[in-house]
Amino acid sequence: MSEQTDVVVIGSGIGGLTAAALLQERGIQTVVFEKNAFPGGSCSSFCRNGYTFDAGASVFYGFSENDRSGTLNLHTKIFRKLGVEVATVPDPVQIHYHLPNGFNVAASYSRQGFLDSLAARFPHEKKGIEAFYRELEDVYEILSALPAGSLEDVVHLISVGGRFPQKTVMLALKTFRSMGKTARKYISDEELLHFIDIESYSWAVQDALSTPLVNAGICLADRHHGGINYPLGGAGSIPDALCRGLEKFGGSIRYRSGVDEILVENGVARGVKLSNGETVHAKAVISNATVWDTYNRLISDSRYRVDEDRFIRAPSWFQMYLGVDARVIPSGFHVHHILVDDWQTYSNLGGTIYFSAPTILAPSLAPPGKHIIHAFVTSETSEWDRYERGGEAYRQAKERYADSLIARTEKILPGLSNAVELRILATPQTHERYLNRYKGSYGALLKPGQNILQKPQNRTPVRNLFAAGDSTFPGQGVIAVTYSGVSCASLVARKLGMPIDYL
Ligand SMILES: Cc1cc2nc3c(=O)[nH]c(=O)nc-3n(C[C@H](O)[C@H](O)[C@H](O)COP(=O)(O)OP(=O)(O)OC[C@H]3O[C@@H](n4cnc5c(N)ncnc54)[C@H](O)[C@@H]3O)c2cc1C
Repeated sequence: MSEQTDVVVIGSGIGGLTAAALLQERGIQTVVFEKNAFPGGSCSSFCRNGYTFDAGASVFYGFSENDRSGTLNLHTKIFRKLGVEVATVPDPVQIHYHLPNGFNVAASYSRQGFLDSLAARFPHEKKGIEAFYRELEDVYEILSALPAGSLEDVVHLISVGGRFPQKTVMLALKTFRSMGKTARKYISDEELLHFIDIESYSWAVQDALSTPLVNAGICLADRHHGGINYPLGGAGSIPDALCRGLEKFGGSIRYRSGVDEILVENGVARGVKLSNGETVHAKAVISNATVWDTYNRLISDSRYRVDEDRFIRAPSWFQMYLGVDARVIPSGFHVHHILVDDWQTYSNLGGTIYFSAPTILAPSLAPPGKHIIHAFVTSETSEWDRYERGGEAYRQAKERYADSLIARTEKILPGLSNAVELRILATPQTHERYLNRYKGSYGALLKPGQNILQKPQNRTPVRNLFAAGDSTFPGQGVIAVTYSGVSCASLVARKLGMPIDYL
C-alpha cells in the first residue's frame, strides 16, 4: 500500500507534534507516525492503579499569559493559535536544591527572594551574584524581544536583523560565551561555583563551563518572569492539546505506526516506510528521532552516518515512579527537588537525584490520600545490559537500586520507604525501548567550547528531510524542543510556498 501527503512527521514528541500542528494549521496536509499508542514521548503521561504519572518532564516553562511578543510563552502562543487549551497552575518554586554542607536553597518565582537567599549564604559574593544573574537577565531580555523563527530562514533573519539590529548583534556575540566562564568573571567562591554548576546540570546534564550562556539565559531567567507552570492534567495534557490542534485542522496522527526507513532517492527524501510495510510519500519528511536514530537507523545509506563522538551523548536515566501515602509529604513541601550528597560525585552516574511530586499542585493525578513521586538519576544501558529483560536477576537488581535511591531520598522525606504503596521502575533500556532513543540517551550535547549555533538545525544533509526535537537547536527540554518545532515548521512551510506567521 502507498499513500501521498504533504508532510510526514516521524514521532510525536513535543518537537514533532509542534511542527505538525503548526503546519496543519497553515493548511499543509500533515500526518504523524508514532510507534507508541500515545503521544508525547519524554513528555507524556501513563496511568497505573489510579495514578497518572509524568513519564519524564514535569518542570514546564512557556505557559505565561504575559503578552510580550518574542520567543517566550511559546506554549501559550501556540495553543492560542491552535484554539486549544491546557489548564495550568503556577508552580512557585522551579527547584528546591538540597546540597552538601547543609546548603539548601529554593529557586523561587521571586527573583529577588532567590538572590537574597543566595546572598545570605555567600555575603562576600553578593555583588558577584547580582552581576552574574544580571547577565542571564540580559540574554533573556534580548531573546524575549525577538520573534521565534528558523535561523536557516534567510527571510526571517533579514527581518529580525532589520527590525532589531542591536539586539541581534548582541545575541550573536553572546552565543560565544559559556555560563561557567561568565560566572567566573564575577564569582570566585568554590561552593557558589558548584551551585552554578548544579543550576546548569539540573536541565543541561552538563556543568556550567560546558553550557552555553544563551540556554542558561532562558532557563534561569524565565523562571522569574513567565515562571514555571504545571498542567493540571499532567505532562500528557501538552501533547494531547497539540494532537487536538493537529486534528482540528484536518491533520492526523497514527499510533502503533513505527517508521522503519526514510526513503531517500538520489539525496532527496521521498517519504517513509512503516514497520507494516506500507510506504507513504511526502513532499517533506520531519524526523523527531535523535540524530543517531535518524541517520544511523532510519537512513540506510551509510554516507549519512553520524559517529557517536560527533557530539557528547548524554546519559540515560534510572527512573522510579512511586505512589505514596500522602502523609509522608509535609505541608509547604515544594514540588521539584534536587539532591546532591557530594560535589565530587554529583555528575557521576547516579550522583544527583531529581525529584518531583506533581500531585502537590494537581491532586487529581493520584487517588485520594495519595501522592505521586517521580525520582530519577542518570544511568547508562551498559550498567544494565548484563541482565536478561524480564528475568528475576534484572528485577532484583532494579529493586535493590530503587531501595538505595529511596534511602537517599529520605534525607528530604523521612519515612519515605514505609510510605511507598506502588513502585514502577525503569532502566535506560526501558527508555530506549519506549522512545526509540539511542542507548536511551537524554540527547546530543555540545562539546565544551562549541558555539550553540553548532547544534544541528532543522535542515539536514538530505534534501526535503528536516529534523525537530532535542537533537536540534536549541537542545533538551520541552520548551526548547517546542522552539525547534516552531522553527522547523516555519522552514518547511516557506519551502512549500506557504510561509507561516511568526510567533
Ligand atoms: C526523565 C526525564 C525528565 C525530564 N524532565 C524535564 C523537565 O522537567 N522539563 C523539561 O522541560 N524537560 C524535561 N525533560 C526533557 C524533555 O522531556 C525532552 O527534551 C523532550 O520532551 C524531548 O522531546 P522530543 O521532541 O525531542 O522527542 P521525544 O520525547 O524523544 O519523542 C520522540 C517520539 O518519537 C517516537 N519515535 C521515535 N522513533 C520513531 C520511529 N522510528 N517511528 C515512530 N515513532 C518514533 C517516540 O516513540 C517518541 O514518542 C526530561 C526528560 C527525561 C527523560
